Amino acid sequence: MPFCKLNHIMCKNGFYCLIAFGGITVKELASIAAHVQASSTMAIDSLAKQMKADGIDVVGFGAGEPDFNTPDNIKEAGQKAIEDNITRYTPASGTVALKQAICDRMRLDCDLDYVPGQVVVSSGAKHCVYIALRALVDPGDEVILPAPFWVSYLELIKMVGGVPVVVTAEESAGFKMTAEQLSAAITPRTKALILNNPSNPTGMVYSREELEAIARVCVERDIYVISDEIYYGLLYDGTAFTSFAALGDDVKERTILINGVSKSYAMTGWRIGYAMADLKVAKVMSNFLSHSTGSPCAISQAASVAALTGPQDTVEAMRQAFEARRNYIVERMNSIDGVSCIKPEGAFYVMMNIEKLLGRTIHGEKINSSDDFCTAFLKHALVATVPCSGFGAPNFVRWSYATSMENIQKGMDRLEAFLQG
Ligand code: PMP
Ligand code: GLU
Repeated sequence: MPFCKLNHIMCKNGFYCLIAFGGITVKELASIAAHVQASSTMAIDSLAKQMKADGIDVVGFGAGEPDFNTPDNIKEAGQKAIEDNITRYTPASGTVALKQAICDRMRLDCDLDYVPGQVVVSSGAKHCVYIALRALVDPGDEVILPAPFWVSYLELIKMVGGVPVVVTAEESAGFKMTAEQLSAAITPRTKALILNNPSNPTGMVYSREELEAIARVCVERDIYVISDEIYYGLLYDGTAFTSFAALGDDVKERTILINGVSKSYAMTGWRIGYAMADLKVAKVMSNFLSHSTGSPCAISQAASVAALTGPQDTVEAMRQAFEARRNYIVERMNSIDGVSCIKPEGAFYVMMNIEKLLGRTIHGEKINSSDDFCTAFLKHALVATVPCSGFGAPNFVRWSYATSMENIQKGMDRLEAFLQG
């Protein structure tokens, strides 16, 4: 099968690349556009799905998307919304009913005190991060991004003309940025920090004390924090969750919280995410929405109300399944020669360290980077994983274990066999 690489993206057929680079006779596109890369997670996921559709026995660990179906009570609420003709535009930043449900859920789960006017609902948490950056960042402003980071943050910062300042959190430090590292990275141009807790791709969770130290720096040095807490419901081993905005009023006023229903409620395709912020910031974000998305999908909003206000036992069942999968994948991975991982406390990702494989030739393929590894692994073992070169961690490969135990076993068996080649 022919493979070619376009930036971080592997595409199945080099032919498409030729089309993309065909003779351009029109004016250049915007300079910002030229620097924005496609999402590697989404590209790998669609490649794996396409291979599967082509009848190839590929096992996908690419996109972080729960394999569970949306719970029935939520689907029924969506169906009822259609029956009841809830099929029109809503206010740009979401219905009052959904905003109230979000406030209630956040009060219950995260000890947060927001009113509906501070909530901004949009078409996914990803878009919420985008409009949060739009609200804060002028061209040339610096945004601090702890690495490893979720691939979209880097591109989103670039999309608003910001300058990403990457601070590397080493594996030996549990992939967590310290307050000292943050302090050293701040300059007069720093506008904001993007914090992701629990983290995609590392699965690591900051303790309350670690967050307090980071928050002190943010307040003292006067920077905003975009705190993406979309995985807050997926914590293991009884690990406690602290929301950044719950650390005090001075922290809350400079925080834009990001959350959504995609992960906890297995609702990725419904496209509902939300942000919570100071009233003034929320208003600016809402203005942006009124001219861009118009409003989030009315049907999905009604379903999200059911998700947030309905029984939460399905959420807990999914969390338990993820925990069992994490235990299995971590143990298997650490028993295989040449690779290792630390045990994540949340989300549904494992970072596989491939430092020991670099320079080796496996199945005739030279492995000099995580991109090389993922390409060879997909080609020879039919397992789709994500190279962390796009996540600021070039010697790591991300596995999403939001897939069945059967697939995880198969993936680990294939990894073991592949590395013996
Ligand atoms: N934040 C993080 C850290 C994520 O991993 C994702 C996954 N796509 C998102 C935000 C976006 O979620 P969504 O747009 O589906 O709400
Ligand atoms: N957040 C998921 C991931 O990292 C879904 C894909 C995406 O939006 O990037 O794989």
